[in-house]
Amino acid sequence: MSRSEQMFTQAQKYIPGGVNSPVRAFKAVGGTPVFFQKAKGAHLFDVDDKRYIDYVQSWGPMVLGHAHPDVIAAVVDKVQHGLSFGAPTEIETTLAQELTQIMPGMDLVRFVNSGTEATMSAIRLARGVTGRDKIIKFEGCYHGHSDSLLIKAGSGALTMGVPSSPGVPESLAQHTVTLTYNDIAGVEQAFADIGDQVAGVIVEPVAGNMNCVPPVPGFLQCLRAQCDAHGALLIIDEVMTGFRVGLTGAQGHYGVTADITTLGKVMGGGMPVGAFGGKREVMEQIAPLGPIYQAGTLSGNPVAMAAGLANLQHVKAEGFYETLSVKTDTLIHGLTALANDAGIAFTTNHVGSMFGVFFTEEAKITNYQQVMACDIPRFNKFFHGMLKRGVYLAPASYEAGFMSAAHSSDDIDQTLQAAREVFATL
Ligand code: PMP
Repeated sequence: MSRSEQMFTQAQKYIPGGVNSPVRAFKAVGGTPVFFQKAKGAHLFDVDDKRYIDYVQSWGPMVLGHAHPDVIAAVVDKVQHGLSFGAPTEIETTLAQELTQIMPGMDLVRFVNSGTEATMSAIRLARGVTGRDKIIKFEGCYHGHSDSLLIKAGSGALTMGVPSSPGVPESLAQHTVTLTYNDIAGVEQAFADIGDQVAGVIVEPVAGNMNCVPPVPGFLQCLRAQCDAHGALLIIDEVMTGFRVGLTGAQGHYGVTADITTLGKVMGGGMPVGAFGGKREVMEQIAPLGPIYQAGTLSGNPVAMAAGLANLQHVKAEGFYETLSVKTDTLIHGLTALANDAGIAFTTNHVGSMFGVFFTEEAKITNYQQVMACDIPRFNKFFHGMLKRGVYLAPASYEAGFMSAAHSSDDIDQTLQAAREVFATL
């Protein structure tokens, strides 16, 4: 029995499923989750000291690579002065100023502790500001696990919400309308039908929770135009894409600006943090300035702020995102060539350092139905083959992969060598 297997057995005695977030349990791919003890740069080390080249990066935050010396130093320095005050600290303003200068349309920003909190608060804000209840979201987009956003689509273009989980009241779910990602006509139809009831649209500007699915040309622009025409707010959820697809997020990349932007993950450099921000007149509706309530004992935590700020100094460097993109191109084009050589039906998507691989005959993947129609058993076999060879991919076919600044050309070569061997077995 490996030490991971022993630890997983123990964990299951005390923690539901042995994990504190479901996807970690390897249910989608089968087998035992790997328990890690440390990480450095592009590499993770498990409890048996086996090394893995990591393309999960804690689900996105570690864009500089793991344990970057400057981020660690900033955290260690901050920790010496106390962990939390529940009162204002200057570093919150410093990070807020940076974010508002960088992110499109962000006049004011409030810090929270997770992406879930950021999107939940953004939804309340949109409802409070507009005095409307309905929210439009897209099938396959994940925005955290708050009630209004944990809604599954049924069939048809416009589906009144069906909860994805027991415990989400039907009466709440019916205020969430789920549409097909990248379906411009579906969005126009929904607004024509119920536009005057819609508080806001929430969208992953590059979907990263149904593998990696970029927006088709005009999709984000259509959301902006429909929200404007019907007095709804556009919430662009950049929890995954913020400081990941580029310095100014997907909004900078695609030239569309939100009314409310949510951030998390990369913004905290690996510490638990999130944020939501936007136009001054919208954000001024939040307590204590306005009547819409939102709060947090640990929000704006100084240690998390220090990690975020240190991280930001690096991603702001000239050429940072271009270099990351080039590396991702190399990996993705390499994988595609190897799959072709092996005669395996395969396609990919990538934007900046976010990427997805699909085992499918389809030339292009643009929505959730297509993602779910891919050859999942084949992906699972690929995943385990790569894992065995020391490459750690996300343990589910519907998750995106990430490149970090710490991945070297050697890491990429080794990944491609492993893929060559695994493709031969599929
Ligand atoms: N929004 C998006 C786009 C996400 O990818 C995630 C997490 N994967 C969340 C919100 C929720 O963030 P958290 O897990 O920090 O609550």
